[in-house]
Amino acid sequence: LTEKLQNVFKKLRSKGSLTEADVKLAMKEVKMALLEADVSFKIVKQFIKSVEGRAVGQDVLTGLNPGQMVIKIVNEELVSLMGSDTTEIALKEGKALTIIMMAGLQGAGKTTTAAKLAGKFKQKGKKVLLAACDVYRPAAIKQLQVNGEKQGVEVFSMGDKNSPVNIAKAAVEHALKNDINVLIIDTAGRLQVDEDMMNELIDIKKNVDVYQTILVVDAMTGQDAVNVSGTFNEKVGIDGVILTKLDGDTRGGAALSIKAVTGKPILYIGMGEKLSDLEQFYPDRMASRILGMGDVLTLIDKVSAEFDEEKAKELQQKIKKSSFGFDDYLEQMNQMKKMGGLSSILSMLPGVGSSQMSQIEAAMDNNKLNRIEAIILSMTPAERSDPNLLNVSRKRRIAAGAGVDISEVNRLVKQFNQARKMMKDMPQMMNGMQKGGKRG
Ligand code: GDP
Ligand code: MG
Repeated sequence: LTEKLQNVFKKLRSKGSLTEADVKLAMKEVKMALLEADVSFKIVKQFIKSVEGRAVGQDVLTGLNPGQMVIKIVNEELVSLMGSDTTEIALKEGKALTIIMMAGLQGAGKTTTAAKLAGKFKQKGKKVLLAACDVYRPAAIKQLQVNGEKQGVEVFSMGDKNSPVNIAKAAVEHALKNDINVLIIDTAGRLQVDEDMMNELIDIKKNVDVYQTILVVDAMTGQDAVNVSGTFNEKVGIDGVILTKLDGDTRGGAALSIKAVTGKPILYIGMGEKLSDLEQFYPDRMASRILGMGDVLTLIDKVSAEFDEEKAKELQQKIKKSSFGFDDYLEQMNQMKKMGGLSSILSMLPGVGSSQMSQIEAAMDNNKLNRIEAIILSMTPAERSDPNLLNVSRKRRIAAGAGVDISEVNRLVKQFNQARKMMKDMPQMMNGMQKGGKRG
């Protein structure tokens, strides 16, 4: 995919504001990325349409090419669609009993997630009770008991001879008697969305004061997640979503589909079978995962945040005219330092070899930087702009001025010449970056 993107970047070279053609071209790849991530087809279409409208005519930020600018907008839109920020499960004030009902298909991860949540609330100092209302799946009650025990949380069960509603009602009574703060009701799922399952959940909601209905969705179900979450939300009504099995290699497009269809926040993500594997949902991380363009996004971030385009241009001009001198060298080093190490950016570019990287890194050593600065500042302006003036006697004078050995001055001159050679390749590299990198 990255390769495809790079091709797009190559094609997109116009500057100024984003044209319809720019946007259309980049959107083709965005569409592919979203479909590959298993975002529902319908949602992809809607999304593309709305972002296209927003993107056309926007200025291209300096330091970015139009393709990257489109990606930047797409990413922002994804993040805002998925909620911008993290969301917690709402609990009632103080010690009042909050009832949470788990909902979802069989195998989605309800029972596991119920126990994970129980642990989270317990850590926050809540007194938690789990209720076993899945009376169909063999061993479901036992599974909850085992998990509850692992978490040190009480499990309320009445075997499999009672109706889920009756168990739920009894669990609430038990909770109220025992000063429980959070009651989590584990329910039964079916392999597919079906009436019985919905009715059971609706029934529990009618008889018990459920404060939060949490839909648990297996992220690997991809396209299907839309129908499932849509139906649950319509029929039962949900308050939030937990997406499980994101430890797998799914890109997580379900997150976008579900949010788009239900409008309900994604609260947590399941990152494994262990009971500690429940993490906060971060829309920005998920957007990056769904787009599958992490490197490009990091690059865009860095470039738009730190890269001083004007100075870079000036520098490129100087290099072209071969007037790149020690002052520029120093300036360049300081800019690199400001950028948190150019190497971190360069490492993301195809075509930058590790030997070039280590040269740059060696030059970036802070201590050295100070000594280099001292040496350069001991030069006359003429010497700084024309390194060829540096004969032995001048070097000796400079060394004395900077308080270093003449060998260090020699080393700097050598380094500078190397750097200048490398800098000559830089415009090409930078161009490569702007075009999305050259293949190497
Ligand atoms: P339920 O039928 O909805 O109650 O689903 P379960 O809680 O029984 O989970 C079904 C299977 O998925 C079990 O083997 C769980 O260990 C597994 N599972 C649940 N959540 C996750 C997760 O976040 N990651 C992984 N890898 N497995 C999970
Ligand atoms: Mg279960």
